[in-house]
Amino acid sequence: MKADATEREIDDVLRVVKELGFRAHPLPGATRTAIAVTGNQGAVDPSHFENLPGVAESIRVTKPYKLITLDLRPEKTVVRVGDACVGGDELAIIAGPCAVESRAQAFAVAEAVRRSGARFFRGGAFKPRTSPYAFQGLGEEGLKILAEVREAYGLKIVTEALDDHGVDMVERYADVIQLGARNMQNFSLLRRAGRSPLPVLLKRGLSATLDEWLLAAEYVMSEGNYNVILCERGIRTFAQHTRNTLDLSAVPAVRRISHLPVVVDPSHGTGHNYMVAPLARAGVAVGADGLIIEVHDQPERALSDGAQALTLEQYEQLVADVRAIHEVVTPAPVGG
Ligand code: PEP
Ligand code: MN
Repeated sequence: MKADATEREIDDVLRVVKELGFRAHPLPGATRTAIAVTGNQGAVDPSHFENLPGVAESIRVTKPYKLITLDLRPEKTVVRVGDACVGGDELAIIAGPCAVESRAQAFAVAEAVRRSGARFFRGGAFKPRTSPYAFQGLGEEGLKILAEVREAYGLKIVTEALDDHGVDMVERYADVIQLGARNMQNFSLLRRAGRSPLPVLLKRGLSATLDEWLLAAEYVMSEGNYNVILCERGIRTFAQHTRNTLDLSAVPAVRRISHLPVVVDPSHGTGHNYMVAPLARAGVAVGADGLIIEVHDQPERALSDGAQALTLEQYEQLVADVRAIHEVVTPAPVGG
């Protein structure tokens, strides 16, 4: 739409798209609103829109994705979560244990997370474990503890849903729905999250290409939820010195194509405590919008992912380091 297009002109275009039997996605940007059209099988004749009042141009998108692209929205998306955000000027830090294990554990970690100035607390209540006999998470009891953490510390809660029922529950207690690596191509779950009012943190699949990952984000957005945060968490390679290979090149690669914010998970990306800080620093240096970090008050007692958990002290030091790096790599505001 033209920069000076009115609400009414925008609404008229949305109506025409709907009347053609397609879905319209209005995405307001800094200077103008773009309206994406999905649901068409083949090419749509641009003359349907071109001469409507307020329309600047009608562009045919030939790429497999439409909504995630910079063509649609040239400026970065800032995902707002209450008074916190991911993708804005501030480095987003999402920290907490792999799994919520008890109220005492969650509160001990949350205390340190709050003290560090981070705005987001992570912790799984539903855990996707490789073995069915491993700790599966506390379920709804875990979500209740997370809701208490939110209340006590004002932290925004990021927690995983494994299925549609999990999304219902996460919506009731938390602020951001995490979709895990193992579910990145669970298309019905992606669609369900796409109908949620909560933002989605979408982890890259264990062996997903960039296109597969971006198309998974497209699934969520195609249902009308445009608040998607991408998370690079490492992919499986032949390397045996790490749990996964953290693909930091994914950050600039995503930036070149998409307006969505990207965070880096050096915990699952490496699997080893000693590697988390260096890779977290590198993630920020490479331009990530944030980090998701596993922290535990007693890593040796953790019920999952203890080997990669930072101690509270290590975490505190890391936050100081990454903030300093973020300042160096973030361009100063114009005139500032
Ligand atoms: C997690 O964040 O605890 C987790 C299970 O992550 P991933 O889906 O990346 O393995
Ligand atoms: Mn974990």
